[in-house]
Amino acid sequence: MELYEFTIHELQEKLRKGETTSREITSSVFGRIDAVEKEVRAYITPMRETALAEAAAADERLKKGDGGPLTGIPIALKDITCTKGVRTTCGSQILSNFIPPYDATVVAKLRAAGAVFTGKTNMDEFAMGSSTETSFFGTTRNPWDLTRIPGGSSGGSAAAVAADECIAALGSDTGGSIRQPAALCGVVGLKPTYGRVSRYGLIAFASSLDQIGPFTKDVEDAAIVMNAIAGYDPKESTSVPEEVPDYRTFLGKDIKGWRVGIPKEYFIDGIDPEVEAAVRQAIKVVEGAGATCVEVSLPHTKYCLAVYYVVAPAEASSNLARYDGVKYGFRAEGAKDLLEMYKKTRSEGFGDEVKRRIMIGTYALSSGYYDAYYKKASQVRGLIKRDFETAFAACDVILTPTTPTPAFKLGEKTDDPMQMYLSDIFTISTNLAGIPGISVPCGFTAAGLPVGVQFLAGHFQEGRLLQIASAYEKNARIERRRPNL
Ligand code: GLN
Repeated sequence: MELYEFTIHELQEKLRKGETTSREITSSVFGRIDAVEKEVRAYITPMRETALAEAAAADERLKKGDGGPLTGIPIALKDITCTKGVRTTCGSQILSNFIPPYDATVVAKLRAAGAVFTGKTNMDEFAMGSSTETSFFGTTRNPWDLTRIPGGSSGGSAAAVAADECIAALGSDTGGSIRQPAALCGVVGLKPTYGRVSRYGLIAFASSLDQIGPFTKDVEDAAIVMNAIAGYDPKESTSVPEEVPDYRTFLGKDIKGWRVGIPKEYFIDGIDPEVEAAVRQAIKVVEGAGATCVEVSLPHTKYCLAVYYVVAPAEASSNLARYDGVKYGFRAEGAKDLLEMYKKTRSEGFGDEVKRRIMIGTYALSSGYYDAYYKKASQVRGLIKRDFETAFAACDVILTPTTPTPAFKLGEKTDDPMQMYLSDIFTISTNLAGIPGISVPCGFTAAGLPVGVQFLAGHFQEGRLLQIASAYEKNARIERRRPNL
């Protein structure tokens, strides 16, 4: 086995025993990047030189015995998280030359825990999309089938983990952007509770929905990364001063007597039969592990997509007003006056999907329409949140498919935004309710494409999610295949 193939906890063990060094691990990961990146295209900005220097520093720390929990482990960052001195594009031309003067809190926390940063990964422009196809920097390919999309918007992070081009990665999830690509690439992806992980230095898409979380090769690694990034941040007003448990303590415990809610609205027409079969098998596995499955109802599910596509674009239109050619990045050439400079910069600097969202959002917020759209959507959002509260009175966690289909073909949905939006049908409600969710691999289709099962829990119940996810992972014994690259 090559070093790049191991998990964080396996590498920690090897480092602790002195069987390898961070330099060896990091070189192995970059060797892998050299071998497969031409095809996968997971990275916008690889950071080889600084990574090797960080690895050398990590080895020094390890030698002295003062390593942190992630010391020497190569981790990739979605290019939406600000990195001091390293270009951060958010997948957009408008930020294609933006070099942040500070680190996002998650980056600072990972740095303090000793991580080595392999680079900045590809993503849909401003995280708007489900396939990475809206990236200004080209599309990432699914490592399991290079003619298919890796999911999005954090497709680069998911593909990098699946293709062993890093050991773990961070992504962000506004409506499914961690869980959907995790499912489509066959890795674990966790969206924490809103407020659990600081958004300071995360480039804003929809501020009431955005959360940062990990992509990992297994559930234990997700707990390890969560330990490093979760917690209150005085720099971020929506981060919550709730104590962070040691997430590792939830691993390997049984789930006997747990009630697992199966929402009847989530097994709908149009769900791919192979996805449904794999998820129904997952239900059997949790029952086999001693849990009882109960039917629950989330009656406002049918409004989730509509609510999301008012709330998210409204917030985005406001957040993206700051990109005007003055304060950040790209500025169009040849404008006669200030107004024309704004117009040209925004027309040339943003791609079609981002413009579509800005127009929808601006419309929904305009005077006279605000009550009909944004206010109404916010009220329905309250009902969606209440659905979950009612459901969690009858169960400990909820189990659903993560996505309605396996990875689709490149270009298949680019001309039909509605079809693209539907790929988040099972993930969006989580963000509207602010609760945590995790996607765990639950098998493969006959064509060899990964399928994910999603677990959801109440606010700040990430421990519960990790407990059932690890019990599921242990009992399901999904074979650890690797993509054939
Ligand atoms: N695909 C959804 C969108 O396009 C969600 C994206 C995300 O979670 N960042 O808005």
